[in-house]
Formats: sequence, structure tokens, C-alpha cells
Amino acid sequence: MTIHKKITVDSNHLYLFPLADFAGGGYVMIDSGPNTELAFESFKQNLDSKNIEISEIKKIIITHAHADHMGFANRFIEQDIEFYVGAPDMSAYTSGSQFESIIIRKTASVLRKNGVPNIILNEWLENKKNRAPLNSIPWLNIKPVVGRHIFPLIDNQNLEIVACPGHTPGSIAAYNPKTQEIFSGDTIIKNKIPSTGLHYESISSEKQWGGTTHFLNTIQELKLIKIKKVYPAHGPEIIDHRAILNYYLTHFRNFERKISELSNKNLSNSFEITKKMYRHFSNFHVNDQVKAIIKVICIIEKLNQIKSKN
Ligand SMILES: [Zn+2]
Repeated sequence: MTIHKKITVDSNHLYLFPLADFAGGGYVMIDSGPNTELAFESFKQNLDSKNIEISEIKKIIITHAHADHMGFANRFIEQDIEFYVGAPDMSAYTSGSQFESIIIRKTASVLRKNGVPNIILNEWLENKKNRAPLNSIPWLNIKPVVGRHIFPLIDNQNLEIVACPGHTPGSIAAYNPKTQEIFSGDTIIKNKIPSTGLHYESISSEKQWGGTTHFLNTIQELKLIKIKKVYPAHGPEIIDHRAILNYYLTHFRNFERKISELSNKNLSNSFEITKKMYRHFSNFHVNDQVKAIIKVICIIEKLNQIKSKN
């Protein structure tokens, strides 16, 4: 029997699970966003209507370091809460907006090298200035999860962390083996393909890779888990998750095929390929253009990997 409680704030679903008494009691919650005063007020009202005191929340699992999932995390610090996060996203959690600014700067330089004109880049950078700030979380409160971690719940149930790199390097999901329910963050979502983009080893490292390869591995891994129901961070609950996972795989396979066809046509860089791939490219909003370009870079990186192996 499912034992979680669901709270929806804006377009984000948050989930609460009663911890077993021997694990200290109270609740473990999945995600803590988005980052606005209004969202936090709405969260508190929702909690109230479910007869849960905010002080009963003892642990928070954050599925990944994006503002709409960790937005009001730092408001819990005073109650000495523990945050369980995917270790590869640590720099983002501890450095917040500073981390994002550095990543944006690094990505802009990659895009420039791959043929994106300054006029598009500058507009993209200008848009980025309007994003919600990413509030950091103190080191002391964070428990980076490496490998397996289990939260004992009431009713002899457990919640297990599953690493799902791809959407961000440290994306995680939480799985309940008894009910075969998975709480997927942004990794499995209905009607949307999760963004991947460029990932960096850490805030201080230039080492960078495309997230798509990791995302595809994650999807293959998820196919091996017995899942009855998916509870995503956005949108409706999912029963036929296999259809969605297969849709993701087909999408990326087609994408890769198109890119390898185009890359043989003497197009000089990723930007040229993107323009050829998206017919109405010039009508795209600048953000969409850049997102498409990032995908192209990811795939080209993958093709380069394949070529260098042969
Ligand atoms: Zn996200």
C-alpha cells in the first residue's frame, strides 16, 4: 500500500514519506522547490492541510540541483535538516548561483567555439540573467549519496536512492521496492524529453561531457527495475513507463542518425548542422536555438567518441 503524501507547489510535486520509528520518525521529503516566497507559503499551507508540522520533516532528498527542485531548501537549515543529494551535483548545491554563473560562462565559450554567433550568444546570456537565483546549502547539512542509500519507512517499507545521471550529472530518483513505485524527479516525465546539455566535472574543472550518453545509460538501467507506477516531479503519474522510456530511446536514436547523416555533408560546425536540422530554425526563440545546439554538441561528442574507438 502506498504511504506517501503528495504536495503540489506551482508545477512541482513534492512527496513525503513517514520514516520508521527506529530511523528517528518524522518525514523524509522529496524535493524542496520552486524558489519563490509564494511557493514556500503555498507549501506551508499544503503541509498544514495534511496535518504535518514543518518540524516533522527530518530529511530531504533533492532529485537534482535545479532551482525548481531545491528552491526553498535553505529555509530548513535552522531545523538541522539533512539533505541527501547525488554526489556529482555537490558543487551546484554548495555554491548555488555562483556555480551556475561559472557553468553558463563555460558553456558560452563552448558554444562560441562551435560556431554560435555572438548575437545569439549575447541574447542567451542576457536571458540567463533573469533566472531565479539558486540558493546554496551549507556543506554541513548535505549528505552526498554515493552508491546505495536506504531510508527505512513505516509498514516495513523502504525508500532507496537510484542514481540517474543525465538531466544533471547527479540526478537521482527514489524507489520503493515493496510497492514498486519510483519517484523520478525530472528523469521520467510524460510528454517531455528531459534536457541533458553540457556537464562539467566540478566548479573548478574544465573537464566536460554531454549528458545524453549518461541519460541513455540511465534509461537502460531503469528498464531493468520492476516499476508499477512513476511519480514524476512534474505532470501526471505514469503507469506505462516502458512506453516513455522506449520513446526517449527512439528519439535519441533518430537524432543521432540524422546528425551522422548531416555530419557527412561538409557542414563546418554544430551550429551549421543545427540550422540544417531545424527547418524553421530562424523562427525559434533564442533559448530553443541554444538548447538545440547543446543537444547537437552532445551528439557530436558522442560521434567523436565512437570514431576514436574505431
Ligand atoms: Zn530539472
